[in-house]
Amino acid sequence: MPELPEVETVRRGLAPVMEGQVIARAQVNRPDLRWPFPPGMAGRLTGRRVQALRRRSKYILADLDSGETLLVHLGMSGRMLVSGDPLGVFVHDHPAPEKHDHVVLDMENGARITFNDPRRFGAMDLMETATADSHKLLAALGPEPLGNDFSEPHLVAAFRGRNTPVKAALLDQHIVAGLGNIYVCEALYRARIYPQRKAGRISARRVAALVPVIRQVLTDAIAAGGSSLRDFRQADGELGYFQHSFDVYGREGQPCRTPGCEAKIARIVQSGRSSFYCPICQR
Ligand SMILES: [Zn+2]
Repeated sequence: MPELPEVETVRRGLAPVMEGQVIARAQVNRPDLRWPFPPGMAGRLTGRRVQALRRRSKYILADLDSGETLLVHLGMSGRMLVSGDPLGVFVHDHPAPEKHDHVVLDMENGARITFNDPRRFGAMDLMETATADSHKLLAALGPEPLGNDFSEPHLVAAFRGRNTPVKAALLDQHIVAGLGNIYVCEALYRARIYPQRKAGRISARRVAALVPVIRQVLTDAIAAGGSSLRDFRQADGELGYFQHSFDVYGREGQPCRTPGCEAKIARIVQSGRSSFYCPICQR
């Protein structure tokens, strides 16, 4: 499942062929993904210029010159493929249509963006740009972890008195938007905090220290995604999923990477999801 760095990588890959460009033709091949598409979606996209391509949490937002914004969520298995790229960095030939190509956007510049999603947990919607922040998927989101509103005082206040494990608190989208299982595990390892620690029982100093750690974990992953973009373009035009080496995630039973630590990475299940951590380093 794509997390924030993967979505940001997709956004950065799409921006050069979409931003400032007109959607010449929109093809919508089914009535829904996770939810029904908005009424008349193809017609509302056709002929519109994409003024900006933004990201909020794990959503890509394309602001159109019609005053509407297209929201795209990749879900569990959604992929964006770019072909016919006028910039010459993606594969040039359009691939043959595939079974799960649900939405196809042909840009006036010759680029084609294909949204393929076998499991159909993805979503698209159209909303008024002016009130996009109050869309049902966006309204309750906390601050962006890479934005200025995600501050040390914000996190300290959010954790104060909370009886839930720190893992759950960081996955709470009201507290910080867009963090998922993988990067919460990684951040808690770097901050040396045991994932079951109650959020409200961690000292303010240690909670504050989590803020720069979370930013760095995400920034590192986005950098890894950026460096892999070139490979995706050359291979098959697919964007967004990259190999990234994690310190704890998926490494159960393997040696801790902290110098001098001889422990092996452990795994516990919290709220149905795996938490990977070092039993010596994380307290
Ligand atoms: Zn360790």
